[in-house]
Amino acid sequence: MFDNLTERLSGTFRKLTGKAALTENNIQDALREVRRALLEADVALVVVKEFIDRVSLRAVGQEVAKSLTPGQAFIKIVQAELVALMGSTNAELDLKTTPPAVVLLAGLQGVGKTTTVAKLSRWLQREAKKTVMVVSVDVYRPAAIQQLQTLAQEVGVEFFASDNTQSPGEIATAALAEAKRKFVDVLIVDTAGRLAIDQPMMDEISQLHGLLNPIETLFVVDAMTGQDAANTAKAFNDALPLTGVILTKVDGDARGGAALSVRQITGKPIKFIGMGETPDALEPFYPDRIASRILGMGDMLSLIEEAERKVDKDKAAKLVHKIKRGKRFDLEDFKEQLKQMQKMGGVASLIDKMPGMGALPPGAANMVDDSQFCRMEAIINSMTMRERINPGVLNGSRKRRITQGSGTQIQDLNRLLKQHKQMQKVMKKMKGGGMANMMRGLGGLQGPGGFPGPRGGSFPRF
Ligand code: GDP
Ligand code: MG
Repeated sequence: MFDNLTERLSGTFRKLTGKAALTENNIQDALREVRRALLEADVALVVVKEFIDRVSLRAVGQEVAKSLTPGQAFIKIVQAELVALMGSTNAELDLKTTPPAVVLLAGLQGVGKTTTVAKLSRWLQREAKKTVMVVSVDVYRPAAIQQLQTLAQEVGVEFFASDNTQSPGEIATAALAEAKRKFVDVLIVDTAGRLAIDQPMMDEISQLHGLLNPIETLFVVDAMTGQDAANTAKAFNDALPLTGVILTKVDGDARGGAALSVRQITGKPIKFIGMGETPDALEPFYPDRIASRILGMGDMLSLIEEAERKVDKDKAAKLVHKIKRGKRFDLEDFKEQLKQMQKMGGVASLIDKMPGMGALPPGAANMVDDSQFCRMEAIINSMTMRERINPGVLNGSRKRRITQGSGTQIQDLNRLLKQHKQMQKVMKKMKGGGMANMMRGLGGLQGPGGFPGPRGGSFPRF
């Protein structure tokens, strides 16, 4: 889901890396890209406009936190605004009423209403520990009632039988009475699909609403219709007081325009998303999680926050300075770098959290072994300062002393020296290669795409 949007946005952020600060000028390109990405994702134009304004307002002049790159700072803003756009928090189903709490579903034909009744039933039983009764007032489509009965059996909830000789109003009244009599917690009412412009059908559902007095009136809408989903929801809301939206077929929605447009256009929260055809495929809608999925960053955000906390940017900057002055990258520096990487939770955990790691050849992540960090640090600790600054003096007896002192093998020491040499070469190349490269070599983060790692080749391999 949200594939295209993800791709477009991560490209945008890559371009922003290496910028010194967020200014009106340097975020223009990024903003334009975000705008284009949102439009391509079929987000409604008014929503895009306001979104861009808000991001821009927040970004310009924003002080970039010490430990972040401008690209990361920008991502954080976009993420925060995406979350706000979708309503900030999960809007829970409101069931706080004298039972039965009636949930009325409405929507166009074929959007997934009946399937959603089954999904909601299962969710209510399993997650909310509620007893559920379902009923269909779809007397128009042959086999619609039968379809619900089958699904009700599958998820094991009470099914209130109805047939198409009855009127929807009759069925609703009888089902409500039965639900009361049986003390069920929730009565879910499935309705026939209809168009907002079909006046008799809209009158019918208004009447049902009056009879049932539902605590939740949910508009079920197909995510694949993009911004149209938001517009039809709005049209329905004008005739029927909706309390929320359920977005279906999000599993097939590569773009995300519906998820991003609904809240702002209708003022109604998305409460659940349907992620497949089976009764299990329903998730509460969490704006922050969706925003992260859209940005395609796995746990990128938490990683950025971790970096903010843990990576000592001053130390890194000192090292950069030293290299720029032409000083060599000695073993003491190497040790410092290893420490920084460890602070970040080790290579394995970094790789875990990095987006796009699916692209790595299988097993590549395992090639990096954290325990090696400790061993390497121990080796360097057993050296004198002179040896650390100038490893060239290491002869056989010195090496023996060091490996004995650190409880390691001569091969470990030799490997470390080799890796240090490689790093030195990388560092040399980076001299004048700009801050971005430098930080990458230091285990600093550069945002998606610019992350240090086996792909970048500047990370020591063990
Ligand atoms: P209704 O006419 O609104 O009651 O729609 P149905 O519940 O009968 O569903 C119409 C079709 O959409 C069926 O084939 C469902 O399996 C399918 N469907 C419903 N929800 C989802 C979903 O979240 N993901 C996918 N992929 N298909 C869904
Ligand atoms: Mg149906």
